[in-house]
Amino acid sequence: MDTVNPENNPKKPVINWASLRENRAKYESMKWAGLPPIEKNFYKESPRTASMSQEEVELWRKENNNITCDDLKEGEKRCIPNPVCKFEDAFEHYPDIMANIRKVGFQKPTPIQSQAWPIILQGIDLIGIAQTGTGKTLAYLMPGFIHLTSQPISKDERGGPGMLVLAPTRELALQVEAECSKYAYKEIKSICVYGGGDRKGQIDMVTKGVDIVIATPGRLNDLQMNNFINLKSITYLVLDEADRMLDMGFEPQIMKILIDVRPDRQTVMTSATWPDGVRRLAKSYLKNPMIVYVGTLDLAAVNTVQQKVIVIPEAEKRAYMHSFIKSMKPKDKVIIFVGKKADDLASDFGIQGIPVQSLHGNREQCDREQALDDFKKGKVRILVATDLASRGLDVHDVTHVFNFDFPRNIEEYVHRVGRTGRAGRTGEAVTLVTGNSWKFASELIDILERANQVVPDELIAMAERYKQSQMRKEMEKDIQRPWRKPSK
Ligand code: ADP
Ligand code: MG
Repeated sequence: MDTVNPENNPKKPVINWASLRENRAKYESMKWAGLPPIEKNFYKESPRTASMSQEEVELWRKENNNITCDDLKEGEKRCIPNPVCKFEDAFEHYPDIMANIRKVGFQKPTPIQSQAWPIILQGIDLIGIAQTGTGKTLAYLMPGFIHLTSQPISKDERGGPGMLVLAPTRELALQVEAECSKYAYKEIKSICVYGGGDRKGQIDMVTKGVDIVIATPGRLNDLQMNNFINLKSITYLVLDEADRMLDMGFEPQIMKILIDVRPDRQTVMTSATWPDGVRRLAKSYLKNPMIVYVGTLDLAAVNTVQQKVIVIPEAEKRAYMHSFIKSMKPKDKVIIFVGKKADDLASDFGIQGIPVQSLHGNREQCDREQALDDFKKGKVRILVATDLASRGLDVHDVTHVFNFDFPRNIEEYVHRVGRTGRAGRTGEAVTLVTGNSWKFASELIDILERANQVVPDELIAMAERYKQSQMRKEMEKDIQRPWRKPSK
């Protein structure tokens, strides 16, 4: 019988880590050898911006939705540049950009733009955190155009696109591309690459030469694996809506894409939120970035309101509302928010002999004023209102907000809830949520958590189901045949 004699076994080869590391470094440097240098700093601070005092800078930041900034570079911190208060302060040396801005008639930079432009234009990597709809696209596009058109080598010598924007969904990618074609100049060419689109057409465009590629990660990774696109020429990279890209499960594709993008590029990342996943992404793919955070939701008012969320089938909403109204105390005052059918609900109450008033866009101005007056004076204790009519509505003794229909967006939710709990009082908000509003579930959870409120399990399940369905939809659209071998 054979016995294993360890003495006779050939020695296990020792892994030479040092040499492996050396080889890897050699390979890396070979991979990036011979690439042209990147020009990154184009910022000339205007005299006006330079002359702002520290107090002026702080006041501007405070008044512009509380802009906060930080330098995430390890070690000695750099100076955060002053914000630009006017478009000219950032772009007066770029007449094409100024002409485009004048054409659309924008008044002034949005908060994120005012603070992001001086940072990006200096060539510093940036993380921009701001709510949806706050102008993040132009915050990175404008400096991107300047970067593209100011490189020491010409477009043709570059041998591929110079700027890449990764976006989570085809709709968002198309939106970015629309902004891009609206504001680009000097014949900058852009193309949108997304799943479900005309793959062959996209490939033709990419290989013909474009300057800006706006892509969803799945499809771009597909083109990359099949060698249809050269990513080495990219010197300006944007990860747009990073939080949503992570939610959609795109991290592996992003990782694969970025292996081929040169490491000394400039990178800008935007996100509406700043959770751990996004921090990790920033750490992996940005170099010594600065971060600009813009707050928009005024949650201060909401913190004095107890928020109750009820997940309920549409058919049971009325019964729930009526039992809620029955439970009201004599001094309570409630605004019932509805999507459209304010009159419908109001007459429902009328039939039952409960006095109510209603506020909606279809009522005459004088009737609206009467309604508000009745409610303020307490002639009626129930006001049925639509969002259209509720802006600026300030009745100090509202004890309850009842969201019969969920609003069209989460900002409106915060706004509605803020109708109660005013002037140091406490208030209560009850919100009915049906399956129709599932796309808001995760944002609603964020708000409830931040205000230390109870989050119902059904709401968590709803958010999870929505996420799953979005992922499935994107996967179907985006990665049609990921297993296909490259055709040679
Ligand atoms: P985000 O990416 O932050 O969600 P977008 O970049 O899509 O927001 O911008 C939302 C809208 O605001 C767009 O229609 C855009 O054209 C417009 N916008 C951008 N910058 C300004 C500005 N400085 N003033 C007014 N509107 C602007
Ligand atoms: Mg955006």
